[in-house]
Amino acid sequence: AAKADGRRTRRLFEPAMDAALQNRRALECDLRAAIAAEAMEVYYQPLVDAQSLAVTGCEALLRWRHPERGFVSPGAFIPVAEETGLIAPLGEWVLGRACREAAGWPAGVRVAVNLSPAQFRSPDLVGMVARALAESGLDPARLELEITEQVMLEETTANLAVLHRLRALGLRIAIDDFGTGYASLSYLRAFPFDKIKIDRSFTAALGREATAGAIVQAVIGLGATLGITTLAEGVETAEQLAALRGSGCGEVQGFLFCRPVPAAEIRRLFAAAAMPWMAAA
Ligand code: C2E
Ligand code: MG
Ligand code: MG
Ligand code: MG
Repeated sequence: AAKADGRRTRRLFEPAMDAALQNRRALECDLRAAIAAEAMEVYYQPLVDAQSLAVTGCEALLRWRHPERGFVSPGAFIPVAEETGLIAPLGEWVLGRACREAAGWPAGVRVAVNLSPAQFRSPDLVGMVARALAESGLDPARLELEITEQVMLEETTANLAVLHRLRALGLRIAIDDFGTGYASLSYLRAFPFDKIKIDRSFTAALGREATAGAIVQAVIGLGATLGITTLAEGVETAEQLAALRGSGCGEVQGFLFCRPVPAAEIRRLFAAAAMPWMAAA
């Protein structure tokens, strides 16, 4: 019966799977062309000091405007880039681009660049990062690499060694989307992190679920004890900002302050006397 069911299931779902697979192949093909044609763009979103609301850095976020599909979200194409190995040239391009851009920003402002777990499979990751720093002339202390919990879960020993070598270049490591994966809290002690980015699902639940506030409070406290900065992602309301400030959160990021914008807009922001969100908050 199981076999018959299996066969029936396969027949029912084959056309749908086929369409999904074809869509994926088309996306892969277009992605290759886009990388070759440099049809990608890097947007930047300010990271803000929770107390002073001054910009401490900006996160580099990939943007792809597809000729027919329109805007394709990184959530849709990063996984394809990871599976096809295209993440290597794409990741190198983003990092080089972001470092060159940030070298022109005010001296205290950092740039944060996302690294995919797949990039840790490249034997030359550390060399690639060192080259991006050298070629841009960016002070390594101004570069922050964002990694996810996945990096700690796979190839743990090898990846730990890579993180130490990256940090030896003088840059900082942030753990992204904290609280969404399966990493245990003990990783915070074992891995060399400079910053914890609390996932925006926790920020969104602030004031709605008592447990979210308790978790955020606990992570901030843990960070303080370990000497790790905490940043809350996805801050959209003044109430969330007030709660985070009250909890002693170090930095905030979200639409309340600024959406991800093109490099030219960030440059205009730095040229202004005060940040537009300072008056509002
Ligand atoms: P992430 O690293 O956690 O980046 C933050 C995401 O939250 C961004 O989505 C940003 O636009 C969004 N965001 C910021 N503030 C708010 C807010 O107040 N509310 C809401 N609802 N969202 C907010 P985006 O740009 O779509 O990127 C999605 C993910 O794609 C990123 O999550 C990151 O994991 C990945 N990604 C983006 N660029 C790159 C890249 O250059 N390399 C790699 N490996 N991954 C990237
Ligand atoms: Mg990130
Ligand atoms: Mg994040
Ligand atoms: Mg996130």
